[in-house]
Amino acid sequence: MAKKTGSIGVTTENIFPIIKKFLYSDHEIFLREIVSNAVDASQKLKTLAISGEFNGDADDLKIEVIVDKDKKTITVRDNGIGMTEEEVDKYINQIAFSSAGDFLDKYKNSENAIIGHFGLGFYSSFMVSKKVEVITKSYRDGSKAVKWECDGTPEYSLISAKKEGRGTDVILYIDEESEEFLEKNKIQELLNKYCKFLPVPIAFGKKTIWKDGKETEIDEDNIINDTNPLWKQKPADLKDEDYTRFYRELYPGSFDAPLFHIHLNVDYPFNLTGILYFPKIKSNLDINRNKIQLYSNQVFVTDSVEGIVPEFLTLLHGVIDSPDIPLNVSRSYLQSDSNVKKISTHITKKVADKLLDIFKENREEFQNKWDDLKMFIEYGMISDEKFYERAEKFTLLKDTDNKYFTFEEYKNKIDPNQKDKNNRLIYLYATNVEEQYSYIQSAKNKNYDVLLLDGQLDIHFINTLENKFTDSSFVRVDSDIIDNLIQKDEKIESVLSEKEQEDIKWAFQGAVPDESSYWVTADSMSSDEMPVIITRDEFMRRMKDMSAISGGTGFYRDLPENYKVIINTNHPLITDISSKMEKKTMPKRISIDEMLEVLNTEKSGLEEKLKEYKTEEEKPVEDKNRLEEVNDKINQAEDEKIALYKEFGKKQKTVNQLIDLALLANNLLKGEALSKFVNRSVDLLNK
Ligand code: ADP
Repeated sequence: MAKKTGSIGVTTENIFPIIKKFLYSDHEIFLREIVSNAVDASQKLKTLAISGEFNGDADDLKIEVIVDKDKKTITVRDNGIGMTEEEVDKYINQIAFSSAGDFLDKYKNSENAIIGHFGLGFYSSFMVSKKVEVITKSYRDGSKAVKWECDGTPEYSLISAKKEGRGTDVILYIDEESEEFLEKNKIQELLNKYCKFLPVPIAFGKKTIWKDGKETEIDEDNIINDTNPLWKQKPADLKDEDYTRFYRELYPGSFDAPLFHIHLNVDYPFNLTGILYFPKIKSNLDINRNKIQLYSNQVFVTDSVEGIVPEFLTLLHGVIDSPDIPLNVSRSYLQSDSNVKKISTHITKKVADKLLDIFKENREEFQNKWDDLKMFIEYGMISDEKFYERAEKFTLLKDTDNKYFTFEEYKNKIDPNQKDKNNRLIYLYATNVEEQYSYIQSAKNKNYDVLLLDGQLDIHFINTLENKFTDSSFVRVDSDIIDNLIQKDEKIESVLSEKEQEDIKWAFQGAVPDESSYWVTADSMSSDEMPVIITRDEFMRRMKDMSAISGGTGFYRDLPENYKVIINTNHPLITDISSKMEKKTMPKRISIDEMLEVLNTEKSGLEEKLKEYKTEEEKPVEDKNRLEEVNDKINQAEDEKIALYKEFGKKQKTVNQLIDLALLANNLLKGEALSKFVNRSVDLLNK
């Protein structure tokens, strides 16, 4: 045939410079595009063979990727359907070009918006090449080979060529800026990334073996792909080991075996296959290390699946393969695409179903894996209403005795005993069994159960549960004394009188480490409870914890710590201190009390008298002034008395010892204070 030349594209003269610049960071996708075309051409031949339109041998289908560093070429060779001269003209000059043109028009201004940049096709080869040749021969009987050539200008040439068998060679003459792609390792890496699971064998060089301490080539193709990946196979034919092996194939560097897998297989209303794995997630560090890989007909597209699966499922690992996910669209479009929404909902449902199955079939196994699964499930329940509804059937609560309960089981367990006087069900929880030991014991003494909520998301999870569970509250076991956490109607009588209770408070207030953070109250508890207990308010602690997690500079985070020091006025040690204090402060206290009595009598006399006048003006000025004076004196006397009690408390060894013991129980006694405590303890033992 005579050499034919022509000009591709009449409208967009400058398409090649655009292609070259386009998606600079993603030039590497050219290999995926060219190899995918070769795969398509091979599969088309197979289809023709099956339908009888092609009588030759379609079993030897193979794609070769050949790098010639000297000639600076990369050749992608297939023995698929090939093209006739007319087909080259039609598919390469017209269709390929126009689709590339459309594509560029659409995405010129939003390069990052395209997932995987599908659709650029054959012309992506010009991103890395100064010249591209296509030598091709159609499978049709009597076809002649042709060579198409284009050097990156809109002009191409098409001449007859020599080629033995059917198929297509695409030869890229790599330009200077792209010479990295002539490195064997680079191509190996790209084939591994994009082509690892393509359905036609891809040979890249020859296999090598180690012989006499040297790496030597043998006469066997180095096939880089697995043409029948696990997710395309029937779940019934597969064993657990197969899934674990495949996991390692996907993530060669990973240590832990996954906990479970889910094999996805949907035909309708969309096509989707895949395998998802539940990883062990122990900490934030693990999150997203092995990402879910998205494929379209076994071609790798991307490993950022945000928008395609719900956020919490991005914690999973594995593969999703769907030709129905629109790939050359922006992410925001993707999220509103109804097909994608359906896919996302479907995956969520499948994940929940699978978990429910395992829970039902083998609860013990489920429980054993719970601690590793927990974070994932809680994340899902916090962030996805639908998932919550499904997961509430199998989500477990673990108590401080390491027993597991479903929500319903746990509710039934605590319902008879843990309702307060207002009929609210109180869920007690601890975050650390060691540190909150004495509080847990106090609760257990009352036959209450204490949950262990020590996970990273638990603080948020508690909020979610409180919103869901009706008439229920969660309180940390050390946030108040147990009788206040679950308030019942019965009140224990106090051994001390009201006045004595009021007084003894001040003795302890005088001995706390920091008066602005520790506030003392008195409470009549059972005499076998501790004499002094320190607690931290649930609300404040939660707010502080939350602002610490979000790392912000929240209002709550900057508030000082606040502790409540509760004195058990029925404990013998406290009643003992109380009577000691009465004696020790005797002469002074009595004289203040006498003075107070006189002042209070005068005060009530004055108040009575002033009440008789109707208007403020009528009231005699001297009486009003005197009342003010008396009030001041009363306050002064009260302050003096408080100072007296505080002074007593500060010096009293037992008071200090009891406060220190309570601090110690909360891990709050440190440094100098701790060493003072140790010395005082020795002194007390020596007495
Ligand atoms: P797409 O593959 O999306 O159709 P391309 O620009 O990649 O777009 O290719 C355009 C057309 O060129 C293909 O549809 C196909 O008909 C033809 N083609 C490309 N590569 C080959 C090949 N290796 N063998 C046979 N035909 C090919």
